[in-house]
Parts: sequence; structure tokens; C-alpha cells
Amino acid sequence: MELRQLTDCVFYSMYNKEADRPILEYINGQKYSLMVDSGNSKKHVELFNEAISNFGLRKPNLIAITHWHWDHTFGMNAVEGVTIAHKKTNNKLAEMAKWKWTDSEMKKRLEAKVEIKFADTCIRKEYPLLSEIRVTTSDISFNGNMEIDLGDVVVELHHIESPHSEDCTCIFIPQERVLFIGDAVGVDYYNNCYLDKDKLCSLITAIEEFDFCVMGHAEPVSKLDILNIMGSLLER
Ligand SMILES: [Zn+2]
Repeated sequence: MELRQLTDCVFYSMYNKEADRPILEYINGQKYSLMVDSGNSKKHVELFNEAISNFGLRKPNLIAITHWHWDHTFGMNAVEGVTIAHKKTNNKLAEMAKWKWTDSEMKKRLEAKVEIKFADTCIRKEYPLLSEIRVTTSDISFNGNMEIDLGDVVVELHHIESPHSEDCTCIFIPQERVLFIGDAVGVDYYNNCYLDKDKLCSLITAIEEFDFCVMGHAEPVSKLDILNIMGSLLER
């Protein structure tokens, strides 16, 4: 897996379309390091740990989750650090932790429209052995915002209004002017790909103080680019 450096202390791994593996980020503080999202499996976590160790970076002490979708959370059981998620994310994870991961149960969830086809297909691709799926809640949960001092760099977790999912958390590093927006700029796949334009507008006003924006499944973009993307979504 390829790891790229964005600023002095910010790194990210590339996304992989095949099994819907999102970008994972890494912020290297003097005292602690923080990973953003846990990836979609143990394998994804292992590849990430290998990539950061090739850079001479230690394993993350903390792992912050952007939202509940499987591709961002199913690696949570395989990370070694302390995991942090918003209360709403944790509620959904607690619900999914009770689900059974068998072919027939997954088909039932598809029929009941609890799960979507795209996620079902990708989960089956990532997990040839469905019984290996483990869903866990985070060690720490928060409401609203949270600030973490990693030593020489402070990371802010903001729960934001997003059309993608109601639990979306953005990770902002003011000192580096970098924003990890996850999938927040996107339609709600679990609600017929509905795009709530009011929520998109509040997302636009919420994200102002940054230069780089890293999304879950695309190359990092500048502030101007992300505002253009949001603008064209609004015009749809
Ligand atoms: Zn998502």
C-alpha cells in the first residue's frame, strides 16, 4: 500500500476501488499519533501499519472514526490503539455488532433494505470468509466536538451536518490547515442516494479554514476544488 505525505506531520494511504477501501490518514504528533478511520478489514489495517512502518512511523495510539459505514469501521477490531467515535456512530455500530454475517442473513438485510447492494457486493469481495467479520463499538465516544493534543499538533473532531450520513465527523488540523472530510460530501446511499441540499449548504459554511481537503475515496483537493465540487452538487 502506498503512503503519501501531505504536510510535515500529515500522511495518507491511497484508496482502493476494488474492495471499496477508503483513504486512511495518519497524523504524527510528538507525543501521540492518530489514525483517521480504521479501514474495512484486518488486512486493510495490516497493509496500513506496514506502510507507516516503512516511513519509520510508529503504530497509531489513537484512531478516530469519520462515520459508521463498513468500509471505514470494520477494521476497528484489528487496530491496537484507542478508538474514538461520535455517539451516533457508536449507536449504529452497536446495532451492526448484533447482525449475523452469513450469506442468508445478508440476503435478508438486502431484501429488507437495511443494507445496500454496493456495500453487500464489496463486503463479500473483502471477506471471502464472512465469519471473519467483527463489528465493534469505539473505546471512547463523544458528542459535538472533541480536541486532542498530540504533542506539537492539535486535532479537532467536529460532528457536522452532512447529506451523506447523520453521524459524519470531520477531522480538522488547524496548524496544518488540513481537513479530513471523509465521505461527508456525498449522497446518502442508505436513503436512495438522496442529496439533502440544506445539509450540503451547512457543510459548505462549516468548512472554511483549510487549504487541503482529503476525502474518503478520492485524491486530496484544494479548498477551491472542494467548493466547486459542492457547488456542482448543489446545481444538480
Ligand atoms: Zn460512507
